[in-house]
Amino acid sequence: MDALFDYCYGPLPYRSLSLQFECLDMNYYQPNAVINYPNEEAFTRITEFKYFQPVYPQKKTVILKEYPKNYDYQDEASIPYYAIINDENRKLYEKYADHAKQYPNLILCGRLAEYKYYDMDAVILRALSLYEEVKSL
Ligand SMILES: Cc1cc2nc3c(=O)[nH]c(=O)nc-3n(C[C@H](O)[C@H](O)[C@H](O)COP(=O)(O)OP(=O)(O)OC[C@H]3O[C@@H](n4cnc5c(N)ncnc54)[C@H](O)[C@@H]3O)c2cc1C
Repeated sequence: MDALFDYCYGPLPYRSLSLQFECLDMNYYQPNAVINYPNEEAFTRITEFKYFQPVYPQKKTVILKEYPKNYDYQDEASIPYYAIINDENRKLYEKYADHAKQYPNLILCGRLAEYKYYDMDAVILRALSLYEEVKSL
């Protein structure tokens, strides 16, 4: 929303991630596909892709470590992953949402358009229910 309206009210704050892949010489690195690390480690999650599609050779596996990172809207390589939801940021988003009402054909759906966190099932449900709302317009 902020990019769409050229940041006219300022950038919406987001949290980003640094994604670090590692290829390891072992069959499996961890006991599950995804393990969260909410404690003292610098990374917050490790994903091991072999569990989703076990096509890697024996004694090789690829893992992904996720490190929290600040989002910088002026840096094209920076990706807005998680909206930082608090009263101040919701108010800023509401300014953009009010601004968007000038464009009746603009349909807002998804985590960047609504400044929300959605899991995949939730965002698909949201898209389907919004479609039901707008198809008769
Ligand atoms: C790090 C991370 C981990 C996640 N893990 C899970 C999980 O384990 N399970 C789960 O269910 N969900 C997970 N999710 C959530 C899932 O990714 C989202 O629910 C889903 O991607 C939201 O879909 P969306 O269409 O709203 O947004 P997105 O998938 O983000 O799609 C937005 C699209 O808009 C494009 N875009 C952005 N700006 C512009 C622009 N100016 N012009 C044109 N295009 C633009 C982007 O490139 C992108 O393709 C995770 C999300 C993140 C960020």
